[in-house]
Amino acid sequence: MSITLVSIYPTLLGTYGDGGNVMALQHRARLHGLEVDVVQVDPGDPVPEAADLYVLGGGEDSAQTAAASALRADGALKRAADNGAAVLAICAGYQLLGEYFPDSTSTPTPGLEILDIRTDRLPKRAVGELAATAKDPLDQILTGYENHAGATHLGPDATALGVVRSGIGNGDGSEGATAGHVIGTYLHGPCLARNPQIADLLLGWAAGTRLTFIEEPEVTQLREERLRTVLG
Ligand code: GLN
Repeated sequence: MSITLVSIYPTLLGTYGDGGNVMALQHRARLHGLEVDVVQVDPGDPVPEAADLYVLGGGEDSAQTAAASALRADGALKRAADNGAAVLAICAGYQLLGEYFPDSTSTPTPGLEILDIRTDRLPKRAVGELAATAKDPLDQILTGYENHAGATHLGPDATALGVVRSGIGNGDGSEGATAGHVIGTYLHGPCLARNPQIADLLLGWAAGTRLTFIEEPEVTQLREERLRTVLG
């Protein structure tokens, strides 16, 4: 079984090691005996529409606005997500999946409307460790690092990924959003190195099968260390 994974605009969207999510997906796929074909799409390149899994990272405000307008003009990511492809989007990538997000101007920037979310500004920038309890099917504490100015509000067609235990997340006590096979989150880290359960969930969606989680002791130890710093 081979999965096509598209890394979207890593030159624009890839702050705080988010490129590591692609490496984590390749690693977890190998553990599960899945082959992954990685396609990097740079700004100006067309986004392939028939891939199984799309990954977007975080970015500065200007890079985020440029990425959103290029992806809106291209249209393929929205069509792929609407057709059931799996998507992981971090921070700026998460915000731009919604209806709008703020940039340096007073007019909100339109997003891709893949997730039923809207982002405006937090009273104070959120910087630091973030931990959130995720519900089924992840059913575990998620760990990561956040650095953003956005407060994200979920509409009825999106479900929060988790409940914040430490940090800010969406700004209302919830963290991230999910709908169908799409996950958006404020967790950098990289997210999938710290939370391999999310990697397996995405790979299972992409492969059309449910994967049984394979534990790696060094990752469990890393997670425990990171969580101890904020939860004690
Ligand atoms: N520019 C966005 C914000 O500050 C996203 C930041 C990020 O991706 N780290 O909210």
